[in-house]
Amino acid sequence: MRLTRLFLLTTGLLLALVTALLLRSVWADWLQVAAAEQGLAAMQRTYLGMKVAEKASAERGPAIPVLNDTEPADPAKRARLLEFRRVTDAAFDEALAALVGSEDPASLAARGQLTEARQQLALGRAEVDRVAALPHAQRSAPGQRLTRRPIDLMFAAIDTVLAGVTAQSAAAEAIYPELTMPLVGARYAAELREYAGRLGSQFTAPLATGQPLGREEQRDIPMLMGRIEQLRQLISQQARARRADTPLQAAITEMEMQYFGTGLPFIRLVTERGLTGQGYGMDSAAFVAAYVPAMKSIVGLRDALFTSARDAAHARVAAARRDMAINTGLGLAVLGIELTVFLLIRHRVLLPLLRGTRAMNAIRQGRELPDRAMAPVTRHDEIGDMQRAVTALHEATQRRRALEAEREQLIAQLRHASDTDFLTGLTNRRAFAEQAAALLAQARRHGWPVALIVFDLDHFKRVNDSLGHPAGDAVLQGVAALARTLVRQGELLARQGGEEFAILAGNCRHEEALQLAERLRERLADTPLPLPGGGQTTVTASFGLASAETHGTAELDRLYRDADRALYRAKAEGRNRVCCAEAEDAHDLA
Ligand code: GH3
Ligand code: MG
Ligand code: MG
Repeated sequence: MRLTRLFLLTTGLLLALVTALLLRSVWADWLQVAAAEQGLAAMQRTYLGMKVAEKASAERGPAIPVLNDTEPADPAKRARLLEFRRVTDAAFDEALAALVGSEDPASLAARGQLTEARQQLALGRAEVDRVAALPHAQRSAPGQRLTRRPIDLMFAAIDTVLAGVTAQSAAAEAIYPELTMPLVGARYAAELREYAGRLGSQFTAPLATGQPLGREEQRDIPMLMGRIEQLRQLISQQARARRADTPLQAAITEMEMQYFGTGLPFIRLVTERGLTGQGYGMDSAAFVAAYVPAMKSIVGLRDALFTSARDAAHARVAAARRDMAINTGLGLAVLGIELTVFLLIRHRVLLPLLRGTRAMNAIRQGRELPDRAMAPVTRHDEIGDMQRAVTALHEATQRRRALEAEREQLIAQLRHASDTDFLTGLTNRRAFAEQAAALLAQARRHGWPVALIVFDLDHFKRVNDSLGHPAGDAVLQGVAALARTLVRQGELLARQGGEEFAILAGNCRHEEALQLAERLRERLADTPLPLPGGGQTTVTASFGLASAETHGTAELDRLYRDADRALYRAKAEGRNRVCCAEAEDAHDLA
């Protein structure tokens, strides 16, 4: 597998894994946060439920003076009761509003219980109003229990609310097991407040009639006191586990002082009076005014316990949120680092490596390098070293190529120079011999006829003598140029030396060669050649022709000797003519 692909694959896999881990961790953290918040909400609902119980309970206080009022009825007592009822209703509304949108079983149950409790309370209130409307004489008649019944009806509503509170508290305790103590403690305090209220309510009827305590009161008062003592023990037991909680300890001390130190002894006193029948020495309003404030300390303790639980829950929600934020941050950081490392390796190692490889391939194949590969290297690491090496290699290769090209050119020039006659530019004798051998070999292979024409300028010495050596050179150049125009492709033309030239024609029959020689001779004789000084001159030449018509085994030396002899004859016979090698000549030489 290619490195780049492998790298991409492994990095992608790693990224996916880290992302999955991150999502998993964030999800788990989120569940923690959600649970903590849910527990906190349940706690808040528990508290609102306790508030409802407290307010509904408190409503009994102002109900007692109204129930026991004499004619004409005191509107202030009535107004106070209505104000308390309004407060209870507000508490109900708030508790129910807090349940809107919560569909969990505990919330649904709580909603049902609150609604039921509200109906029960409405019954109690109706009974209060009905009884209060009766003539005082009827209400306060000895042995009358009329004022007790509405109060008993109101107890039922609070029992229902407290059952809902217990269910909500249990939901919160399930999420915060470590907060069971303050939560249960707060519930005990709420119950304690209720039983303390009920204890006070026992005196409603006796105070109204001025009669000693009846059978019911004599039965309920010790029972309630027993229950109150039991709750006191339970609460102090719970509180002992939290000695360090100063506000809690202060609230307990306050309750011990206010309720158990003042409120309860007051009840004992009134009970004693009610049992002996010596008269109470107070009306119900005075009783309420003396007893009710003592119960505030129980509510204070309830709130201290609840606040302690709620603060701890808030702290846990905050801790869960912080954990989530830290884990998310760390996860994102890891993801970011991984991505950065990936990009770094890709840009700083892999891509340069890839470009380096491509550049080396281009160098190997002699292709042009892209501009990017030729840019100056600014890096000072290993990749920079590699890039510099590639550049150096490229430069060295370029230099070598330039040298090679130069050498090739020189060799070509040298070859041309060594093959060429410098004056006329024609093939020289040596190259002619080489090329002629090749041409003759080819003719032998194909069975072609060949012909060799040699020609020598006539009385050339005179040209030199009369016109000067440079003019002689110019004449030689003119002759070469003229001859060049007449030879065809595949025919070799060469200057053999001095003022002697040769033409070797392959695949050329004797007649054709003769025609060529005649044509050249005539053109030479007819063509004025330019001279360096500006003048012109004409020269003639004598031609010797030797053919190897059929046997195709002609040797250059033999042909040359034959042609040379024919040329000698042409000179001898008067020059400016073509002579052909005679058969004997060829035969002789063969
Ligand atoms: P013939 O008709 O018998 O050939 O007479 P010729 O004068 O041409 O022959 P000869 O061999 O006596 O003279 C050849 C002359 O060609 C002698 C030499 O000076 C001249 N020659 C040879 N090579 C060159 C050259 O390259 N340049 C010039 N200007 N003259 C040359
Ligand atoms: Mg000559
Ligand atoms: Mg000559």
